[in-house]
Amino acid sequence: MADDMNRTFMPNVDSPEELQALQLEGLRWTLRHSYENSPFYRKRLQEAGISPDDLRSLEDLVRLPFTTAEDLQEDYPFPLRAVPFDEIVRIHASSGTTGKRKVLCYTQRDLADWAHMFARCYEMAGLSQQDRVQIAVGYGLWTAGVGFQLGCEKLGAMAVPIGPGNMAMQCELLVDLQSTVFCATASMALLMGEEVQRRNLQDRLALKKVIMGAERHSESMDRRIKELLGVEHLFDIPGLTELYGPGTGLDCGRHEGIHYWADYYILEIIDPDTLEPVPPGQMGEMVVTTLRKEAAPLIRYRTRDLTRLLPQPCSCGNPLPLHDRILGRSDDMFIVRAVNIYPGQIDHVLSQIPEIGSEYQVHLERKQDGRDYMTIRVERRLGIGTEQNETIARRITRDLRGRLLVSADAEILDQGTLPRTERKSKRVFDHRK
Ligand code: ZN
Repeated sequence: MADDMNRTFMPNVDSPEELQALQLEGLRWTLRHSYENSPFYRKRLQEAGISPDDLRSLEDLVRLPFTTAEDLQEDYPFPLRAVPFDEIVRIHASSGTTGKRKVLCYTQRDLADWAHMFARCYEMAGLSQQDRVQIAVGYGLWTAGVGFQLGCEKLGAMAVPIGPGNMAMQCELLVDLQSTVFCATASMALLMGEEVQRRNLQDRLALKKVIMGAERHSESMDRRIKELLGVEHLFDIPGLTELYGPGTGLDCGRHEGIHYWADYYILEIIDPDTLEPVPPGQMGEMVVTTLRKEAAPLIRYRTRDLTRLLPQPCSCGNPLPLHDRILGRSDDMFIVRAVNIYPGQIDHVLSQIPEIGSEYQVHLERKQDGRDYMTIRVERRLGIGTEQNETIARRITRDLRGRLLVSADAEILDQGTLPRTERKSKRVFDHRK
């Protein structure tokens, strides 16, 4: 029997075949809708020699051209738009790392679909109408806060919308309202845990679950947050503004991977260099194609997020497929002495060392000899003495060389030395430029 007894928001499919039939129908609709209503896509598809009638099976997806973040910027301020302005009821935007921000528009139906997907996330995390959900992610132009709130209200739980920061108010409401679920970035959740510990509030909380979005986090950070807030489950919610926002998947209580909503979008994993699809289990870039999105549909949109498809079904019995955690962004990669490194790989190595905390920084320098040097700054855990500094530093150097084939120095600091933030922590400092 599947774990998810309550399936109000789950798709009405029981097998991969039924899911694929649903996907083919959605893909056909998206292609026709985009071709007929979006000047951007019509031009792009015509250039590729593709008409909507050419689509016969899901295998034909790989013949469609990619869409990229650069396309969104060139088509600014209403990229990919495929409906008249009368039908657009909201916009959200995310910061572009270079150039213009990405603005995405939504129809009434898009917002309803997003709320439904987000309610499904909460359902998958085992929430009910009895839950009280304290929302400590950003509101406004960003998709985060309002997404968390819409889904919560759709499910029928109680939303406590606070936004990030405001530690005193967060503590007050956690205690007074007995919030059962806390939603935040991993950095904010850690900060909250440390604040709860400092104020000695742990025994007065009713928290059971933390739902974390928008930021990659390490296993050791997870352990620390669980311990400080006294919660049983941490859930990972992926999402990007181009694809509605957060809420497009969630790991279930088995935590074997992230179930993604394959009835709303198709996920492909490609090799970012060759652009060819990679087999399940292999890491690559996520490419998404939406199946119902009206205002700004996505056709093979390159997200830059790195993960892999997990080939085996989840033991919970839910037929929605799994992808791994987001292991980083292809833009986050840096190169030291000809070795490609993703911050996620450093997270993983450091998480295996019990004497250090979850916070760290990577500093990259080019010295007079013209070579690159990497220094890792980490904190000792409470209760570990300074006399261990040298042993810990040696282990970090050894483990990084063993796993990543790169040499690094380690600097061991007192607990609490590195900066904490309520948004996303900056971890890599490249002083070479
Ligand atoms: Zn599952």
